[in-house]
Amino acid sequence: MKALQAIIRHTGGPEVIEWVEADLPPPGPGEVVMANDAVGVNFIDTYHRTGLYPGPLPSGLGMEAAGRILAVGPDVSLKEGDRVATFGPERGAYSAARIVQAKNLLPVPDDVAFETAAAALLKGCTAEFLAERCGEVKPGMNVLVHAAAGGVGLILVQWLKAIGARVIGTVSTEAKAELAREAGADDIIRYDHEPVAERIRDLTGGKGCKVVFDGVGADTWEASLDSAARRGLIVSYGNASGPVTGVNLGVLAQKGSLHVTRPTLFDYYTSEEERRAGADRLWAMIRGGKVQVTIGSRYPLRQAADAHRALEARQTTGSLLLLP
Ligand code: NDP
Repeated sequence: MKALQAIIRHTGGPEVIEWVEADLPPPGPGEVVMANDAVGVNFIDTYHRTGLYPGPLPSGLGMEAAGRILAVGPDVSLKEGDRVATFGPERGAYSAARIVQAKNLLPVPDDVAFETAAAALLKGCTAEFLAERCGEVKPGMNVLVHAAAGGVGLILVQWLKAIGARVIGTVSTEAKAELAREAGADDIIRYDHEPVAERIRDLTGGKGCKVVFDGVGADTWEASLDSAARRGLIVSYGNASGPVTGVNLGVLAQKGSLHVTRPTLFDYYTSEEERRAGADRLWAMIRGGKVQVTIGSRYPLRQAADAHRALEARQTTGSLLLLP
């Protein structure tokens, strides 16, 4: 059997994504063949492509997909036909089908569509660990979410509102502001032209935000420092505008004894039990109507490079899907 798969042989711009018709060998012990119905595009895929997050080459690309099991190898409890999804850590989700380690798959309930699963699993599990286990957000807290109309952003805003936080979001366009408001953001700051920290002080009676969620990185780091409340927490969880580097720890004292963490998903999802618990929380939030998943754009699988261009040019909202 053969299947269309993306491959990168070297790092670089979107043009390094190549397509091959790869042979799918029979799955080995602990492996399955998974056919993808929908593939999620994430900013991390661009870091893998550019080499910001290095890995062995040549490599597949993409972490998130949902679909069905076509064949199982020895020592696998899943069955042919099972509905499953993955958020990595294996790279290679940009494919029509591929070999995957069974331990990296999560069951997708019958009432969750494959598109929803591929649009929500990685970003929703990220929102779960950021809000609940890393930020430990409590009802009534003032919380700032940068890039609030992005894939993670829209889900995180809803998750924080479900907890009962007061959520302030930043976005770069009026259309994005509208989406973030619809997701429940109490206030929006247009960080393309408004002074973020000043607005935060106005909106919080001078106190600042107890937790700042910053997936933008380099461009928002200073504003995040100035927006945090005394003894507040900055959760720096991504680098959409470039990584934060060269931080002088003394600045945390000057800005009010701040805490900073730089978490990654895989330190909060370290075992099959944790992955299942997080995914079950996510499916429950979706079923309960507390999280609605916005699919901002769909692309044919072979147009993954266009999806990367749009994501890196800040032209997207919500989740992006590739459809094999
Ligand atoms: P998004 O859909 O949020 O896209 C990124 C958004 O960032 C853009 O839409 C844009 O929104 C904003 N942005 C600001 N400056 C820039 C810039 N210079 N270039 C591009 N975008 C910019 O992406 P994802 O939801 O996939 O990911 C969001 C962040 O979360 C990323 O940093 C990602 O790495 C991180 N992440 C981290 C995880 C972890 O475990 N630590 C797990 C998952 C995601 P606007 O136009 O409103 O500014």
